[in-house]
Amino acid sequence: MDWTTFLGHQRQQTWFANAIGQSKLASTFLMVGPTGIGKRTFCKLIAKSLLCTQTDPKELSVCNRCETCVQVEKQTHPDVLYLARDPEKSVLTIDQLLGSDGARMREGFCYELRIRPYSNRRKIAIIDDADTLKEDTANSLLKTLEEPPPGAVIFLLGTSEKRQLSTIRSRSQIVRFSPLADAHVTELILRHQLVSDPSAARELAQRAHGSIQYAQELNDPTLQEFRNQIHAYLQQRPMDFIGFAKSIIDHLNQSTPEGQPRRDRLKWCLDEVIDVLRNSLWTQMHIASQEGMEPEDRFAPMRNLSARTIIELIELTQEARENIQRFIAPAALLEAWSANICRTARL
Ligand SMILES: [Zn+2]
Repeated sequence: MDWTTFLGHQRQQTWFANAIGQSKLASTFLMVGPTGIGKRTFCKLIAKSLLCTQTDPKELSVCNRCETCVQVEKQTHPDVLYLARDPEKSVLTIDQLLGSDGARMREGFCYELRIRPYSNRRKIAIIDDADTLKEDTANSLLKTLEEPPPGAVIFLLGTSEKRQLSTIRSRSQIVRFSPLADAHVTELILRHQLVSDPSAARELAQRAHGSIQYAQELNDPTLQEFRNQIHAYLQQRPMDFIGFAKSIIDHLNQSTPEGQPRRDRLKWCLDEVIDVLRNSLWTQMHIASQEGMEPEDRFAPMRNLSARTIIELIELTQEARENIQRFIAPAALLEAWSANICRTARL
């Protein structure tokens, strides 16, 4: 990957090119934006640009051929550190940052960052899952953020600014990323061979909210099947949100391991519900302005709900989605959500 094949985020590229050109690069960046839009790849390219031995380090460019470029690409370069939540755990841990109990400060991320750079240039760190940093874990990182080794650049990757602790926010330069344009998602879908037909790729991109990760999920056959089930449920009359919540739980229990994967899948389910509600609202408002038009069948169940009620349902679902990261058990969360929905919609 080089900057010519990287898609989107032009404004952020220009910003970093200026900062690097003027030697005014900060040491800690909080990169926020939805998942699957290329934030991590962007950081890897910055790392490559800063370390490439064949290009001017004051330019945002890479040769993509030197040993350094090859190693950064393969994630084997000793000066580029990667840290992410253990898939079995829900959060980044103090052990990961400061080393295990018996070896505090003699291993772990903060220790490794302080080891002299192999390249004699600088160390670069890419920390995924910044959303999951808890107060005590974040505290163990603050000293490193306040007094980083000379030249070190630390990228913290999160989904939204709101989810970050104020202690981290106040010590970082915040860089915001937006979802990718549909044309870019289409190109990535074809590049990753999710589908081979360009018009199918375009259709998939339109539903992917500017995220290649979301496109991948939408393209997963089990998820597609479950997506159809969700839509079928939402078309039932009378609507049965309690039964619907139970069917989501069954699906999660059968298909997805506990912990973060299950929370991610639940998020996806609620996103689908939000999508249906939003489309329903749009159809309803559109119909209100064009008398005599009948709503599409798939949105018919919402016909007897007022726009205001649908907006409230969207808000309730968004709130439930936000609560997923608070580690409430999915079954309890969905039970509360469906009860609130029924009360609001008077079902
Ligand atoms: Zn190079």
